Amino acid sequence: MRYKAVFIDIDDTLLDYVPCCREAFDAAIFRLSTFDFRLSTLNDSGLFDLFFEISGRLFSEAKHGKHTIAEVMDLYPAEFIAAIGYPESAVEPFKHAFRAAWGETHTLVPEAKEMLDALKAKGYRLFAASNSFGHLQRRRLERAGILSYFEDTYISMDIGYDKPDIRFFEEALRRCGLQPNEVLMIGDSMTTDILGAQAAGMDALFFDRRGGASLLELIQPLL
Ligand SMILES: [Mg+2]
Repeated sequence: MRYKAVFIDIDDTLLDYVPCCREAFDAAIFRLSTFDFRLSTLNDSGLFDLFFEISGRLFSEAKHGKHTIAEVMDLYPAEFIAAIGYPESAVEPFKHAFRAAWGETHTLVPEAKEMLDALKAKGYRLFAASNSFGHLQRRRLERAGILSYFEDTYISMDIGYDKPDIRFFEEALRRCGLQPNEVLMIGDSMTTDILGAQAAGMDALFFDRRGGASLLELIQPLL
């Protein structure tokens, strides 16, 4: 076996980001509707698109080092609330409701569980590697029924660095006691997962989700 372990990204590799985001967003909007704000705008279907556009832009800027993931987690609720003309006092309730709901979201990407089964059966040590809050990501994996596949979870807020920072990968390798050439990274982001892992001396497999790739086909060379 060429590799001893596989690091696997979470969002849009194991868990389906858009439906999870939509679910958390709806919960956060519901929370807002319990306040005395402008309720008439709350059912506007364009709201989620606006939220998705704002958060997407900020996460994309984070990939290129403009913000940390921790900063983005505070920036996008604030920017969204300002964009819809709600008072600043709505930011914290919205943010907290979104996070609480996010921690319960667990829609799986097709074949994610089958991929984990196949890798596990082949004897690979598995580790999750994600940019986010550790407790929320572990909760989501648990809710999805896949936390137990992982020997450990390396999540940026716990590690202290965000992917693609080489220090994220170095710290993860230190924690599992493996050399870069013993680990393969699998993820859907060319910037954070693939180029980040390669910069740390690891091999990486790009999961081209938008291009319609299949996780099981992707890992065939490992089986
Ligand atoms: Mg991802």
